[in-house]
Amino acid sequence: MTDRAIGIDDLPIRDELRGKSPYGAPQLDVPVQLNTNENPYELPEELVRRIAERVADAARALNRYPDRDAVELRTALAAYLTRTAGHPVRRENVWAANGSNEVIQQLLQTFGGPGRTAIGFEPSYSMHGLIARGTGTGWISGPRRDDFTIDPAAAARAIAENAPDVVFITSPNNPTGTAVEAETVLALHDAAQAAKPSLVVVDEAYVEFSHRPSLLPLIEGRPNLVVSRTMSKAFGAAGLRLGYLAAHPAVVDAVQLVRLPYHLSAVTQATALAALEHTDTLLGYVEQLKAERDRLVAELRAIGYEVTESDANFVQFGRFEDSHTAWQQILDRGVLVRDNGVPGWLRVTAGTPAENDAFLEAVRALKKEQH
Ligand code: PMP
Repeated sequence: MTDRAIGIDDLPIRDELRGKSPYGAPQLDVPVQLNTNENPYELPEELVRRIAERVADAARALNRYPDRDAVELRTALAAYLTRTAGHPVRRENVWAANGSNEVIQQLLQTFGGPGRTAIGFEPSYSMHGLIARGTGTGWISGPRRDDFTIDPAAAARAIAENAPDVVFITSPNNPTGTAVEAETVLALHDAAQAAKPSLVVVDEAYVEFSHRPSLLPLIEGRPNLVVSRTMSKAFGAAGLRLGYLAAHPAVVDAVQLVRLPYHLSAVTQATALAALEHTDTLLGYVEQLKAERDRLVAELRAIGYEVTESDANFVQFGRFEDSHTAWQQILDRGVLVRDNGVPGWLRVTAGTPAENDAFLEAVRALKKEQH
């Protein structure tokens, strides 16, 4: 069966998937790759050895299904949150899955779905809308100001008018780097409860890089508020695929209704536990990346670019008459950044000091060329 004349649209797929393209940041073989908000530091050798040990133990028991409830891992994640987010979190408050994308998928399967809607304030993380589509949830694009902050009054109005079932607030936001004030989250949460009530998901994938504290303490006394997190960024473990959420235990019970049994492999659980043992070392890299992020902001401004204030491990910069052409011109100089489709803007992930230097050299040359 190699008849390439047959395409997706010739198959009896769901109507809402027809003509659509999959999520796809280009994976190009370029010397400097600063396009997918990964952590540039490889895991330290000591941790690699610990992962090998833990995985070896897990391997001996691979004839059995893994712990379906990931109790040891959720306990370790709760301890990490308690220590770093300024709020006591217990295992019952935590759920884990294969990347925060799967956490979000499980939330939409539970609280969204056919006949229901979700809202996000765009530009934001495109997968919220794509996972909504994949779960049959209608998608509503909510507003942001021109400086990419959320106007609480305008956002609350959009919630009141649409009465969505799920509200996404991404802080720090991807691709803009913008953090959201706790007061704004509370205002949107209250608007969402008045309109429906609905589930408010605060996506904190990048929060460890923020100048501000986590919004996690807001879950206290608010059973419809969920914070989602990931080990892909701060823990430098994008390849591991481990995301998690913190919320009222009832939310954790609710997602069990849709999770596949044994969704989190024993190898994944063992690897994540090993990484959590090395939290302090990994958070040391986060401090270096925060300093590099701040340097990128300062140097891009010094070169003459506009930069959006960033609380993440990436920086949105512009403006370009044609961002796709600028993206290609930077790529021609050996540096891969991201064109997120925000007109006039591109996004660069903070890499190692040497990678950032290469990037800055490329955009400095581009600026000179334009004058
Ligand atoms: N949320 C946001 C805002 C993101 O940018 C990303 C990754 N790019 C994710 C969630 C998903 O991360 P993962 O599935 O690797 O945990």
